[in-house]
Amino acid sequence: MTDTTDSVDVQSPAPDAEPAALEARSLTKHFPVRRGWGLRGGAVVHAVEDVSLVLRRGTVTAVVGESGSGKSTLARMLAQLIKPTAGEVFLDGAPAPAGGRSYAKLVQLVLQDPFASLNPIHGMRYILGRPLKIHGTAEGRASDEAIQDLLRRVALTPAEQFIEKLPHELSGGQRQRVAIARALAVQPRVLLADEPVSMLDVSIRLGVLNLLADLRDRERLAILYVTHDIASARYLADSIAVMYAGRVVEAGPAVQLTDHPQHPYTQLLLSAAPDPDRAEAPSLAGAGSPPSLVNPPSGCRFHPRCPFAMAKCAEQNPPAFEVGPGQTSACWLHETSSTVSATAVEERTTSSASSPSPTSSEPETPAG
Ligand code: SF4
Repeated sequence: MTDTTDSVDVQSPAPDAEPAALEARSLTKHFPVRRGWGLRGGAVVHAVEDVSLVLRRGTVTAVVGESGSGKSTLARMLAQLIKPTAGEVFLDGAPAPAGGRSYAKLVQLVLQDPFASLNPIHGMRYILGRPLKIHGTAEGRASDEAIQDLLRRVALTPAEQFIEKLPHELSGGQRQRVAIARALAVQPRVLLADEPVSMLDVSIRLGVLNLLADLRDRERLAILYVTHDIASARYLADSIAVMYAGRVVEAGPAVQLTDHPQHPYTQLLLSAAPDPDRAEAPSLAGAGSPPSLVNPPSGCRFHPRCPFAMAKCAEQNPPAFEVGPGQTSACWLHETSSTVSATAVEERTTSSASSPSPTSSEPETPAG
């Protein structure tokens, strides 16, 4: 536990296996706040601070956190819908071109709400045919065949019937599959999925997660999976980055991180994940709530909620300490090989963070 970095880098496993498809380097986003709402003019919301991550082809990287943790803002910066205050995005190892059609062709975003993301007056032929036409992928009769191929790729069969349907004739899960098919229409290399299953019935979430896993394996897509549900992240992702109040606090291989969480916030998240073997309902109640990002806490932003907080925690932001193979944790408990601290973390880990269930309902952490 001697290696440290200023920010937590999130690497997908087997970094040598595939080149980086999309890379965020020290991305930061501060939103200016207008006067009103009890706030002074000139105030800023510190939504994302110094986040670096690498998305590689054929892997899923999950970003997990409560509402307001900055995970969706991070996804929107990667999609170039929001301009970063600082930091850079790299595509295939080179600085990403600024927005526009060429970038959207390679990096696609799937949104949370499948009911709002499809125009209700248009059928599947129009919804899926439009991106094919705009990006010149298929025209005329070829377009119908390409649309049916897209429908089959997301398991909406028989495709000849689905191509005639309107959005209101589809279930939530089927709509989300259409939204994913629309993203696939331009043959992207990177798929950014922002809470893609959180608005779906529990019974159909697994089907959409399995579809994303299938796209990773079959089409070698680099996928960012944004979620508040660490159980589904463990199920789907190869690596996980846990965000709290705009910062990545822990990152590492998905199974290793959820089996041996080292950061107190990751342990808290896991303790609130649903577990069929646990009698009582999961809850984050009593553990406080996320801080204001207009005036975020000094030092470690988790210190007002942390059961292990020390004087130093309120004064200095901890760097990322290496806590296992490919696993880092930004917590002062890892600064030295303090037996007391390490034991305290390990004991809490084993008592509260047994492996979560991938198919269970979402924990009581807010969405977003
Ligand atoms: Fe808790 Fe301090 Fe670690 Fe932050 S740095 S998680 S306050 S022990």
